[in-house]
Amino acid sequence: MDPAQQLVPAGRHCPGVRIKLKIMRSIIRFLGLIAILLAGSTISSAQFPRFKALGFYSTTVETSHVEFANDAIKFFRALTEGNGFVFDTTSNMADLNTAKIKDYQLLVWINDFPHDQAQRDAFQDYMENGGGWLGFHVAAYNDRDTHWPWFVKFLGGAVFYSNNWPPMPVKLIVDDTSHPVTKGLPKTFIAPINEWYQWRPSPRENKKVKVLATLSPDNYPLGLKDILTGGDVPVVWTNTDYRMIYLNMGHGPHIFTDATQNRLIIAAMRWVVAIDKKGNVFLKTK
Ligand code: ZN
Repeated sequence: MDPAQQLVPAGRHCPGVRIKLKIMRSIIRFLGLIAILLAGSTISSAQFPRFKALGFYSTTVETSHVEFANDAIKFFRALTEGNGFVFDTTSNMADLNTAKIKDYQLLVWINDFPHDQAQRDAFQDYMENGGGWLGFHVAAYNDRDTHWPWFVKFLGGAVFYSNNWPPMPVKLIVDDTSHPVTKGLPKTFIAPINEWYQWRPSPRENKKVKVLATLSPDNYPLGLKDILTGGDVPVVWTNTDYRMIYLNMGHGPHIFTDATQNRLIIAAMRWVVAIDKKGNVFLKTK
């Protein structure tokens, strides 16, 4: 007889061993099932994505503002790597309606603002009920023809007054290096080429406003064609009555070329999301 034929698995001839194998297989299946269930519950409790942001932008505004929008969308999309958060975008301002924006923890106005009263009302309602907003550059532009008093109040009273031209790099002063948005930044840094707006009144005059970065007086006179000669120019601030930050950066293709400023932008976004009254999503662990 071929010796190999004698090597019959013992279990085939021994009912006791067969039963033990069956039990072990059942246990393994059971443990596997538990592992799958645990993995499932871990995924759902981690709540990824942590939050959802919606960026509004226009492709039909001045070229330098479109250039900024292209870069900003790329910048924020890169931050979603790993599905930490969702960054949706729309170039349709009609999406600024309650049904659409209610599921977002953050709205980013990249280079545009509401086009009609319904969009203004939807935004006001969203912000008055705890919504989050990050606004760049022209998003906050308003003058005597804007006729939107609530928005001026929301900005802390700021009305566009003047700007430098051409766009230039400037020295910025970080007003408070202990605030979560500016913590760890140097006291001053050179911000990349931008068109800088001056506001009158300055939002700093509003006690509800916390200014986080300001144009340094060292820059004056600023400009070659249109010249800012002096005065207070806050460039990043929050109105503490709302979950919002405005950043004046947003003109041209150079905004995201400086690591310090990029860090400020990320910290601003993170802070607006973190102070949601429903809880700080960043405190939830995996
Ligand atoms: Zn501009």
